Amino acid sequence: ATLANQIAAGEVVERPASILKELLENSLDAGATRITIHLEGGGMDLLSVEDDGVGILAEDLPLALERHATSKVATWEDLQAIQTMGFRGEALPAIASVSRLELLSRARSQNQAARLQVTGGMAAALEPAARAPGTTVRVADLFFNVPARRKFLRSPAAELSRNQKVLRQIALANFPVAFQLIQNGRSLVQFPTATDAESRAARVAAIMGEGFLANALYIEQEDHGLSLSGWLGLPTYNRARGDEQYFYVNGRPVRDPVVSHALRAAYNDVLFQDRHPLYALYLELPPGRVDVNVHPAKAEVRFRDSREIHDFLFHTLRRVIAEQGG
Ligand code: ADP
Ligand code: MG
Repeated sequence: ATLANQIAAGEVVERPASILKELLENSLDAGATRITIHLEGGGMDLLSVEDDGVGILAEDLPLALERHATSKVATWEDLQAIQTMGFRGEALPAIASVSRLELLSRARSQNQAARLQVTGGMAAALEPAARAPGTTVRVADLFFNVPARRKFLRSPAAELSRNQKVLRQIALANFPVAFQLIQNGRSLVQFPTATDAESRAARVAAIMGEGFLANALYIEQEDHGLSLSGWLGLPTYNRARGDEQYFYVNGRPVRDPVVSHALRAAYNDVLFQDRHPLYALYLELPPGRVDVNVHPAKAEVRFRDSREIHDFLFHTLRRVIAEQGG
């Protein structure tokens, strides 16, 4: 099982940032409202994610580390309507097979927590522990047992910046959840719960840059079951940061050529000065019209009717830009 997990790890666990993404998605799936990330060495020495979600029953802790034992997909219908982020049941076992992992959790219904330690995929005995309801996953010494993989990691600063990018990407799609990122004991990022327009705007500004909102078009459009909302930066916005381009499909961050093409085409059609807009855009569509189960890292999707999606995005954005920003 360890070998299969390590092979799976090749797909899921490339670097600290890919682990962070999986752990954050698990915490969100668990209904967390507050998530704290601790990093040491850019996440290579230590990466932990602490949440206040539903937790895991002590007897289920070993199962959480068994490949496919926990996959949230039970039937074909489930696969058609995947709502949660995780559905493959392989992230934790894969991560555990290439690190020293500790799973500490207390289910909301229990008054005691339990801890399970796993070293390179080998689990120790379950121990009682103390914790408020929720889960902490602590991943230490990433790739300690696969040195060839460790060599592909960059400097702590470079890994830290990838982790921050993952956090920004997830924070922009989960406003009600509070996030904090602490590296070597120093708090580097803090996003308080954002449940009203003002606090959401504050989070967007923190991520996209202070001048962004004043120089962006706000979009909220619906057509035939497709809905697009969010912000599109105008060329007047001289960004302080690099590439803040975020696109979400049903709350899931997505990189997709159909989407990129539609955005670029609409933008350049009207605002030809700038080929590289900043944006945070949210596309919602019925789950049956998109397949999110394309790649383990899940940044890709397959639209059932990509032509229609493309045209909806293109025409909606072009109209908004022409009306408000052209
Ligand atoms: P998946 O998310 O695809 O089910 P994972 O390997 O990522 O698989 O997680 C395995 C299981 O462990 C999850 O299905 C869930 O039951 C449990 N789990 C993992 N992280 C958490 C968490 N933060 N809170 C509650 N349960 C969790
Ligand atoms: Mg998962």
